[in-house]
Amino acid sequence: MMDTPLSISSIAEHVRKFHAGREIMSVTVDNPAHRYTWGDCIDRSKQLAKALAGLGLERGDRVATIAWNDYRHLEVYYGVSGGGYVCHTINPRLFPEQLIFIINHADDRWLFVDVMFMPLIEKLAEHIKGVEGIVVMTDEAHMPETALDNVHCYETLVGNETPDYDWPDLDENSAAALCYTSGTTGDPKGVLYSHRSSVLHAFASIAPDALNLSSSDTILPVVPLFHVNAWGIPYSAAMTGAKLVLPGPKMGDGETLYKLLEAEEASLALGVPTVWLALLQYCATAGVTLDKLDRTVIGGAAVPRSMIEEFRDKHDVVVIQGWGMTEMSPLGTANTLKAGLESLSPDEKLDLATKAGRGIYGCELRIVDDEGKELPWDGVAYGALQVRGPWICSDYFKLAGSAGSHTPDGWFDTGDVATIDENGYMAITDRTKDVIKSGGEWISSIELENTAVGHPAVAEAAVIGVAHPKWTERPLLIIVKAEGADISKEEMLEYFDGKVATWWIPNDVAFVDELPHTATGKIKKIELRKQFADYAFPE
Ligand code: ADP
Repeated sequence: MMDTPLSISSIAEHVRKFHAGREIMSVTVDNPAHRYTWGDCIDRSKQLAKALAGLGLERGDRVATIAWNDYRHLEVYYGVSGGGYVCHTINPRLFPEQLIFIINHADDRWLFVDVMFMPLIEKLAEHIKGVEGIVVMTDEAHMPETALDNVHCYETLVGNETPDYDWPDLDENSAAALCYTSGTTGDPKGVLYSHRSSVLHAFASIAPDALNLSSSDTILPVVPLFHVNAWGIPYSAAMTGAKLVLPGPKMGDGETLYKLLEAEEASLALGVPTVWLALLQYCATAGVTLDKLDRTVIGGAAVPRSMIEEFRDKHDVVVIQGWGMTEMSPLGTANTLKAGLESLSPDEKLDLATKAGRGIYGCELRIVDDEGKELPWDGVAYGALQVRGPWICSDYFKLAGSAGSHTPDGWFDTGDVATIDENGYMAITDRTKDVIKSGGEWISSIELENTAVGHPAVAEAAVIGVAHPKWTERPLLIIVKAEGADISKEEMLEYFDGKVATWWIPNDVAFVDELPHTATGKIKKIELRKQFADYAFPE
C-alpha cells in the first residue's frame, strides 16, 4: 500500500476539491455575520502560509493564537500547520502569569490575536521578549492604536499574497499543533499534536458511533478553538465537508447561541456543560424550543442526567456525551447506544447516557487498582483510568518523562477514576485528587453533584471532601441557587433520599453566590477546598 502522509494539508485539499462551495458563517468583532466558503478559507490559508514564510519563520516554529472562534482563526489553523509550522492555541482566560509562562515555554515566535486582546498583550509584552511580532486578526479599519513594535494587520498580510501555493511535503509525525493543559496543579504542560495524530483523531471522531459527522451537517462548535483544537472540529468538519458556524466572542450567552442555532439551522453543537445550562435556561425563560438542532456533544465535565433529560424531552435533541482530555486530542469515549440496548426503557437509556461512553476505536482503555492490577469491567469496580493510542501523548512538550504521567508499560495515566461496565461504557467517578474517602470507601463527588443539579432550585453544585473526626472525610455540598429560587439545607439533603446510597448523602450544605471556575469553565475544586479550609461539620 502507498505510504502517503496523513497531513493537515491533505484535509485542506480534500475540502477544497470536494466541498469548496460549502459555507462557513462567522460572528467576528468587525462583522456580525461574515459568510464565505471552505474554498475561500483554504485559499486564504495558503495566502497566509506564504506570508508566514515571508516573516522569516522556519519549519517547526511555533505561531500562537489568542482568539475566539471565527473564520480567521480557522485559516490560521490551516495556514500555520499546513505551512509546516506549529499552531499553538492559547486560552485568553488564563492568568497573566500562566500566559507568560506558556508563551515563553513554547518559544512562540509570532502571536495572532483578536483586537480585544491587544490591551492584554500590551501588559504582557515586556515579559515575552521572544515574540518577534504580532498580527491583529482584523482589517485596517479596525486596527487598534498601540505603542508595541512590529504589529501587523491580518487582512493586509493575507491580502498581499495570492493563493497559488503548494503545501510543503511534511513528515506525518512532525508537529502540527500545540495546546497546554490549564495547569490546575503546577505549571501548565504542553501537548504537541502531530499531523498523523490529528488526522487519525479526526477519522475516528466522524464515525457514526462517535460524532456521526457528514457533509449534511451544520456544526456549531461552542467549544473554543483554544480548547484542545475545539475537539478536532476544524479538521473533522473539513474532512466531511460540513458547514461551520463560528460564534466569535459571544458564545457564552444563551440568547445569542439560541438565535445562531436556529438561524443557521445547526444540526450539531458542541460544548462543555456550563454552556448548555445557559442555553437551556434561556429557552425555558423565553418559552422557546430548539427546533433545528438534532444532537449536541457535551464533554469536558460530567453531564448531569437532568440536562440530558431536558434536551430529550423539551427539545428532542440527542445528547452525545464525550470524554477526553488535552493529552488525548481530546476524544477517548463517546456515548451512543450500542446494538442490543435498543430495548432499554427511556429511564434506563437516560441512566446509560450519563456515563462517559464507550472507547472509540484507537483509544484503548483500562482501569487498574493501586498495585496496577487490571480491574474487571463490571460497572462496579473502580480504579485509575489509563489509556493508550495513536492520538494520546507519549510525553509532555519539553518535559522528557519528568511528569511521571506514563506507566512503565506505556499507558497514559489520565488522573481520572472510573468504572467500565460489561458493555464497555466507562463512567468517571472522580478526578483522583477530588475523590472523597469516607471510612475507607470512596464516594463519587461527580454523582452527588449531578444529583444535586437535578433539583430545580439548584443552578450549580460542587461537592468536596472535608475532614471528619470519625470517617476521615465526608462530603460537603456547595450550591449556587437558581435565580429567584429558594431551598433549605434540609430540603436539599432530603432530595438525595433514594437517589444515592444513604452513606453518600452529604453531611452539610453550604450556599454561595458563585463557584470558582477554571479557564475552561470547570469548577475549580482546589480553590473551593481553600475557601472551605476552616470549615467544620456541625456537631
Ligand atoms: P484540563 O485538564 O486542562 O482541565 P481537559 O479538558 O484536558 O482540561 O480536562 C480533562 C478532564 O476533564 C478529564 O480528565 C476529566 O476529568 C474531565 N472530563 C472530561 N470529560 C468528562 C466527562 N464526560 N465526564 C466527566 N469528566 C470529564
